[in-house]
Amino acid sequence: MDAADVSGDLEKVLFTNDEIQARVAEIAAQIDADYEGRDVLMVGVLNGAVMVMSDLQRAMRSHVEMDWMAVSSYGAGTQSSGVVRILKDLNVDLDGRHVIVVEDIIDTGLTLSYLMSNLASRNPASLEIMTMFRKPDAAQMEVPVKYVGFEIPNEFVVGYGLDFAGRYRNLRDVGTLAKHVYS
Ligand code: 5GP
Repeated sequence: MDAADVSGDLEKVLFTNDEIQARVAEIAAQIDADYEGRDVLMVGVLNGAVMVMSDLQRAMRSHVEMDWMAVSSYGAGTQSSGVVRILKDLNVDLDGRHVIVVEDIIDTGLTLSYLMSNLASRNPASLEIMTMFRKPDAAQMEVPVKYVGFEIPNEFVVGYGLDFAGRYRNLRDVGTLAKHVYS
């Protein structure tokens, strides 16, 4: 679906599908160049990263593999606690692999910090992060993020894999929700 299909639910469109695809293509070209001659394994976190993983890999010119993890955060309310339970682990062994973790969005970065130390302990040859969106608080994250699609304000956004109560993941554009949707 496009923003026009849910225009009454959106306060503002931040990025159109065309803008997202153009940025994804730039990052894909950068990864192709950075990893020339090396096989990359991209690790996505379900479900949010499904869209960006799919577009990023198809925009690349080199061979690339994918694998997936599913995690659940413990903690009260909507705040991420950084305590993570692995619901589905990787199928492949990371030993000696060049790994890029592909994320939809980094807010506090707590979930990702936990995941990165977990993945680093599996002895990859290299370990980097690509995220489509990053919020200001993520700047405090100890783990550096190599590839960032767009820096966004500290607002709740939906679309391009990002949901509200399970909806809007299949929205091609990204925007902020109108108040009547969540209040
Ligand atoms: P963190 O641990 O970085 O605070 O939380 C990251 C996770 O919170 C993301 O993977 C995503 O599931 C969720 N999240 C953070 N900000 C947003 C947002 O603006 N919109 C949506 N839909 N999910 C978000």
